[in-house]
Amino acid sequence: MTYDLIIVGGGPGGIASAVEAYIFKLKNILLIEKGDNHSQTIRMYYKDSKRVDKVYRKQEIDLKGNVAFFDGTKESTLDYFEEIIDNEVINTLYNTEVERVLKENDIFKVVTPNDAFYAKNVIISIGRMGRPNKPSYKIPNSIRKIINHNAYDCRGNEKILVVGGGDSGVEYACQLTTENNVTLSIREDRFVDANEINEEMIVRYDQEERLRVRYGVDIEYIEKAEEKGVKVHYKNGYDTIYDRTIYAIGGTTPVDFLTRSNIEMDENKRPLYSENYETSVKGLYLAGDIIYEKGGSIAMAINHAYDVLADIVNKNNTDQ
Ligand SMILES: Cc1cc2nc3c(=O)[nH]c(=O)nc-3n(C[C@H](O)[C@H](O)[C@H](O)COP(=O)(O)OP(=O)(O)OC[C@H]3O[C@@H](n4cnc5c(N)ncnc54)[C@H](O)[C@@H]3O)c2cc1C
Repeated sequence: MTYDLIIVGGGPGGIASAVEAYIFKLKNILLIEKGDNHSQTIRMYYKDSKRVDKVYRKQEIDLKGNVAFFDGTKESTLDYFEEIIDNEVINTLYNTEVERVLKENDIFKVVTPNDAFYAKNVIISIGRMGRPNKPSYKIPNSIRKIINHNAYDCRGNEKILVVGGGDSGVEYACQLTTENNVTLSIREDRFVDANEINEEMIVRYDQEERLRVRYGVDIEYIEKAEEKGVKVHYKNGYDTIYDRTIYAIGGTTPVDFLTRSNIEMDENKRPLYSENYETSVKGLYLAGDIIYEKGGSIAMAINHAYDVLADIVNKNNTDQ
């Protein structure tokens, strides 16, 4: 069968795309997600009870389409998306990783390890957190278990270094203080990437000595500490031993996926797309974080979904 639309990725961008497609009355829609449930970035990288802000990374967004979104918590956000998926009767296929999307005679072939699915239009909304950013220096193999990109392995009573002054770094650092001794290191002299609430929170935590913020520091390299933990060597010549380090420095564009799908990119390996997020391959669209170099937000992903579907429907009507 040929679907009207296949959506690759079941995060906010993918779910909003499915809702808009349903409301725009596209008939056969399939959403394919590699995880065993929707919203893997929220599940894996948001700490439990995390506050979820509509204004994220200082980006005030007016929602355009049919999907609402409010400030809440990790749990309320997941429940909300769950409800949307149920209410809109979205056809989902979990535990299925899409390898590439190929256009053959005006129809897209969406290739997974064991199957292929066909569609007239495809939206790629696979985010950037499938490949979290890593530091430029080497991570020794022997300490990989204590070098993390989220806070799930933290056991309490640990001395933890969080690296990164964006919202996620600030939130990990503050939440971890309930059971751990936390240091947050940022390269800048002040918080330039965090929103106002987080900035106020981290400055207050620092002033109340619930954690330590090291401003304007950069790491030269890390190594296995003699007895236990990771020895972090700062560029200013000092070093400190921690039980664990969490890098909250964002994610990377899935360049391999885009290349395999024949999507044109610029010299910085950023995908090229139109004002409605259509790639160089006609009928193949992007939505959500994959569009940005430095991460977007849930509200932005929701808006992309509306623009993409409006464009697909507009083109369908013009073709008829
Ligand atoms: C720690 C942290 C805190 C954040 N806090 C906020 C906040 O408070 N407010 C806010 O607005 N934003 C926040 N964000 C940003 C927000 O999570 C993202 O902007 C949003 O999730 C982007 O949605 P997306 O659908 O583009 O991608 P994602 O949410 O990353 O979803 C992509 C989905 O695609 C799936 N996938 C990946 N590859 C494949 C494949 N090949 N085949 C099939 N499926 C695939 C993934 O498993 C995932 O479920 C935060 C991000 C992080 C990391």
